[in-house]
Amino acid sequence: MSISQEEDKWNWLEEDNGKYSSKSLRGLLENNRLPVDLNPMEWLRWIPLKVLCFVWRARLNRIANKVLLQHRGVPMDSVECSSCFGEIEDTKHVLVKCPFARTVWGRIGEWCGLEIDGNLEFRDLLDSTLCINQPTAKKRTIYTIFMATGWAIWKARNAFIFNGVRLSVESVVDGVMVSTYAWMKFRAKRKDVT
Ligand SMILES: [Zn+2]
Repeated sequence: MSISQEEDKWNWLEEDNGKYSSKSLRGLLENNRLPVDLNPMEWLRWIPLKVLCFVWRARLNRIANKVLLQHRGVPMDSVECSSCFGEIEDTKHVLVKCPFARTVWGRIGEWCGLEIDGNLEFRDLLDSTLCINQPTAKKRTIYTIFMATGWAIWKARNAFIFNGVRLSVESVVDGVMVSTYAWMKFRAKRKDVT
C-alpha cells in the first residue's frame, strides 16, 4: 500500500475534469442518482433546481441551521431558535415544530384538506404525501406544495436572521400558493391547474 503525498482534494465525479457543474448536478437529480435513497417518488421536473437542492439537503439534515453550524465548529452565541426562543434550532424545529412553521403548515393543511402532523420530521412530512389516498397527479401536487412550504419557511427564517425582516404567516402561505401555481401551470404545463 502506498499513501500519496499529494494534498487531498475534492473531485466532482460526474465530470471528467473533476469540477462541479450545475449541468451535471441536474443530470444527477433527473436520473435520481444522488448517493442516497431520497424518496420513492421521482424528482418532479417542474420544481426549480434550487428548491430540489434545498429539499435534498433538508432531508439529509444538512441545511445550515444553528445546531448544525455549531456542530461544524462555527462560533455561535446561541443555538436557540430566533423565531420563538423556545427550543434549539435544528432542522425539525425550524421547518416543522417552531410555532411559526406549525402555523404555516396548519394553513397549508387546510388548503390541501389534510391534517398535518406537526411532530414529524420534514422528510417524513413530505413522504406522508405518498400515503394519501388520491390519484398520482393529486399526490404530486401536494408533494410539490409541501416542498414549496419547506422552502418558504426556510426563506422566511433567513429573511429574519440576515435582513431583520419578519414575514407574516399570511405572506409565506400566499408565497407558497403563488409559486406552486406558477410551477405547475407554466413549468409542468398542467392543464388541470386553474
Ligand atoms: Zn422556533
